[in-house]
Amino acid sequence: MQNDTEFELFRDNYRRFLKEHVAPYFEQWEEDGIIPRELWYKLGENGFLCVDVPEEYGGYGAPIEYSLMLVQETAYAGFSSLAIAIGGQSELVSPYIQNIGSEEQKQYWLPKMVTGEVVTCIAMTEANAGSDLQAIRTQAIAEDDHYIVDGSKTFISNGIHADLIVLVTKTDPQAKAKGISILLVDAKLDGVKKGRALKKIGLHSQDTAELFFDQVKVPKNALLGAEGRGFTYLMQELPRERLCISMTALGSILGAIELTKEYVLVRKAFGQTLSQMQNTRFVLANAYIKAQAAQAFVDQCADLYSKDQLTVTQVAALKCFITDLQCEVMDQLLQLFGGYGYMQEYPISRLFVDARVQKIYGGTNEIMKEIVARELLGK
Ligand SMILES: Cc1cc2nc3c(=O)[nH]c(=O)nc-3n(C[C@H](O)[C@H](O)[C@H](O)COP(=O)(O)OP(=O)(O)OC[C@H]3O[C@@H](n4cnc5c(N)ncnc54)[C@H](O)[C@@H]3O)c2cc1C
Repeated sequence: MQNDTEFELFRDNYRRFLKEHVAPYFEQWEEDGIIPRELWYKLGENGFLCVDVPEEYGGYGAPIEYSLMLVQETAYAGFSSLAIAIGGQSELVSPYIQNIGSEEQKQYWLPKMVTGEVVTCIAMTEANAGSDLQAIRTQAIAEDDHYIVDGSKTFISNGIHADLIVLVTKTDPQAKAKGISILLVDAKLDGVKKGRALKKIGLHSQDTAELFFDQVKVPKNALLGAEGRGFTYLMQELPRERLCISMTALGSILGAIELTKEYVLVRKAFGQTLSQMQNTRFVLANAYIKAQAAQAFVDQCADLYSKDQLTVTQVAALKCFITDLQCEVMDQLLQLFGGYGYMQEYPISRLFVDARVQKIYGGTNEIMKEIVARELLGK
């Protein structure tokens, strides 16, 4: 899949998939607080998971634009929870295994991730260590041919459904960054426990869980890359996660503009449609103008990523800019719906609450500014 026609066909297929397999049920999933496991198989069967995985591991070997487009389309259609779920698998976990995994790990996990047989999550955050990742306490102590893992993680996206947990842990608990290692933990192992699905103010159907590890015996061949290199791998792979979050933001902004256009063209006040009032026109025009700038910034970063040139600072700037913009735009567009904007049956209300977390996960926007400032000021 390399040319524009193929890209558009792929996009159309995915839009049809969303219409048929997601739109009629999404409301219910939001009520239930989880996307059903079966959807993962359907996504896999239809070829919409981990599309950039090379053909030898079951994927299409598609360029990153294809993969990111799926996230953007999902968010555009108003299904942010699903965008985050798919992004977790295809944009976060899959690149770790593709780029750092051993041949054995790639052959074992990637084909199952492509088909949806395996759902994955990445578990970094702990109750007392979020932004300050080096402070994590989950530990993996080497013993013969395995590690004994103890600890817990929180706020883990796809945690409930996860079959594979990419676990950020300390193999040397005394050390800071240099003590961090990453393990590919099979969720079926004895001692792995999943907490309840956490209740959130938005992203209701996106499963977010606590995970517990009690004397879990993880074979040494589950180590991703080398021991003590975990922090370096995180720095290497976080740009893709932030690019994915940015793509979700862009999709949501563009989707919200469309929704609002439809509403203001028909809603009347004082004998005219809202679309005839200057404030409405300016708010929408402003959102559109900023979305164009955001699109250019996202495209530039995606292009740099595909050339292996995207820096941590550039993508931190993008993530901060576009998720701040997302929250600002959602607030302003919701206002144009008046009281209806505050009603759950109006999709703009969901876009509004779903947006908020984008400034928090993937590294908070304060941390993003720190990264940018460090480069600007030389530490
Ligand atoms: C819905 C959801 C899904 C998530 N999914 C995942 C997941 O799949 N995997 C995962 O590992 N984690 C996940 N997270 C966790 C997320 O990445 C963390 O919440 C985030 O990194 C912030 O950590 P914290 O919550 O501990 O906040 P803290 O680190 O305690 O930060 C609190 C406040 O202090 C500020 N702050 C902290 N340090 C600094 C500093 N140096 N300078 C200035 N300000 C600072 C922060 O910006 C923030 O405003 C998820 C979170 C949510 C809400």
